[in-house]
Amino acid sequence: MRILIVEDEKKVAGFIKKGLEEETYAVDVAYDGEEGFHLADMNQYDMIILDLMLPKMDGLEVLTRLRDKKVSTPILLLTAKDAVEDKVTGLNKGADDYLTKPFAFSELLARIRSLLRRGQAETQTELKVGDLCLDMVSHKVSRNGEEIELTGKEYSLLEYFMRNEGKVLTRTMIAEHVWDYNFDTFTNVIDVYVNHLRKKIDKKYPAKLLHTLRGVGYVMRV
Ligand code: CA
Repeated sequence: MRILIVEDEKKVAGFIKKGLEEETYAVDVAYDGEEGFHLADMNQYDMIILDLMLPKMDGLEVLTRLRDKKVSTPILLLTAKDAVEDKVTGLNKGADDYLTKPFAFSELLARIRSLLRRGQAETQTELKVGDLCLDMVSHKVSRNGEEIELTGKEYSLLEYFMRNEGKVLTRTMIAEHVWDYNFDTFTNVIDVYVNHLRKKIDKKYPAKLLHTLRGVGYVMRV
């Protein structure tokens, strides 16, 4: 899952980015409204965390312009304590949730997980494909009851595959959702990671779950 943070306070942005990366999310940061709007318009994020008080273009304008352009990515607003009016306006203009500063990182994480779950049938915190299980809270992965150790990147790659069970995912889609904007899509890093992942989740099991479609991409299915 790839998340955009639009926040001009470098300390706050850095704190959120570090925390989310530890949770295996890919994170981009924009330090003003214009850059935020541009990145959100150009890339396919799974979530946008948008501060309201921003230089160059304020958060409400970024929000309004994105929704006008039919960008439907879930947006979580960050607001100051006394800005009740802004929260209401933001929600009316298409924001999905808001959080008042200062906030605990655990609360931000809970809101993000809840927003990412919306629009999917599951309300629980587990993803399942066949006998493969991924717990999105504890980050534990198991197959046929046996726990599988994954690195952070392997975990986020697997989560993306499992959320999109049965859908063909191209390398571009994978790069856009699992890596941040510093990623060089011309390398074979994705294939390398997919091979690592496959060794861990498929190799010793007769039923393979992760399939390669030559020249197209990958698909996870039973
Ligand atoms: Ca700000």
